[in-house]
Amino acid sequence: MSGILAPAHGYVHVPFCGRRCSYCDFSIAVRKDVPVRAFIDAIMAEIVTRGIQPNPTLRTIYLGGGTPSKLGGAGIAELVAGLQSSLVGPGLSTSPQALEITIEVNPEDVSEGACGEWVAAGVNRVSLGVQSFDPAVLQWMHRGHDAAMVEAAVGMLRQAGIADLSLDLIFALPPELPRDWTRDLAQALELEPTHLSLYGLTVEPHTPLGRWRDRGTVHEAPEERYESEYLEAHRTLVQAGFEHYEVSNFGLPGRHSRHNSSYWTGVPYLGLGPSAHGFDGHVRRWNIGAYAAWEAAAREGKDPLDGSEAIGTSESTAEAVYLGLRTSDGLVIQQNEVKTVTSWIEQGWGTLSDGRLRLRPEGWLRLDSLAAALTSLRSRS
Ligand code: SF4
Repeated sequence: MSGILAPAHGYVHVPFCGRRCSYCDFSIAVRKDVPVRAFIDAIMAEIVTRGIQPNPTLRTIYLGGGTPSKLGGAGIAELVAGLQSSLVGPGLSTSPQALEITIEVNPEDVSEGACGEWVAAGVNRVSLGVQSFDPAVLQWMHRGHDAAMVEAAVGMLRQAGIADLSLDLIFALPPELPRDWTRDLAQALELEPTHLSLYGLTVEPHTPLGRWRDRGTVHEAPEERYESEYLEAHRTLVQAGFEHYEVSNFGLPGRHSRHNSSYWTGVPYLGLGPSAHGFDGHVRRWNIGAYAAWEAAAREGKDPLDGSEAIGTSESTAEAVYLGLRTSDGLVIQQNEVKTVTSWIEQGWGTLSDGRLRLRPEGWLRLDSLAAALTSLRSRS
């Protein structure tokens, strides 16, 4: 049979959102009425056109966005069933231990009915977009939920059988906002998640926030605030039993994201949907970003490819260094690099044991300069 075997990890970009959040520059399609049928048909068409063959050892499927939960209970169920059939193999059943299926969900989309359909379809991990529990902050962000909706959503997801629950929070907000980061962390922990992903706010041009910043009505958080909130989160969550296993990610033991871990170890992954990236071990490719153009290409039986780049030795060296430093597994250090990393260890920013450099959170705050120095050394040797 011709075609390419699906890699062990598959990502599907579901671009739909009810409105654009004030800070968001992701590739999204704002829709009041989500074209569920057309989207699922286009994803299935993309798989066929690209000749992707089932892989019975597929390990993860991740529906990200955008807002995948905008597909509803039945939409997610149909998409997941289609992906299982096309990427794993028709009629093959997979246990939750064998296949991690994650969906990103916004609290306002959660209902008992939808949760039931997601779990029945095989979804076993949910990443819930919380960002904050503070009503003023959520309103400023243009989010469509409040703290009560988050609590209700967590209850319904648990009741339906979702044991792996990750919460997203944003820190380092502008100083104009009355945000109590300590309280937000405490409220998140009260919900007993198994995983948390924390992102520092970045102000992107062409977003409402970028325009507010340019007008001077808000300012970016000073570096000290970014650092102090990041380090506070590390202390609080590690004390609560979480492993800080990647720059932005915390998981209880055995609850790390298998899907995201694949990105950090440089293994191949499949990307489907508008703007999705994929990697076959040698070439990175990315799809057309605009929803309508991607959907039209897929519907017409064309590969919705927008661009690709071969990952040569120098790029893969730079990526291996950068990704290795990002994780708690660390990076194997070569003999000629020991002098460079010694000053980091002396300053308490990392540890060197068994030949591996593992950065501490203080080191992760300064990761880029070390990654550049080590990449430069490796490119010369
Ligand atoms: S829900 Fe997520 S993807 Fe959609 S606009 Fe907000 S931040 Fe962007």
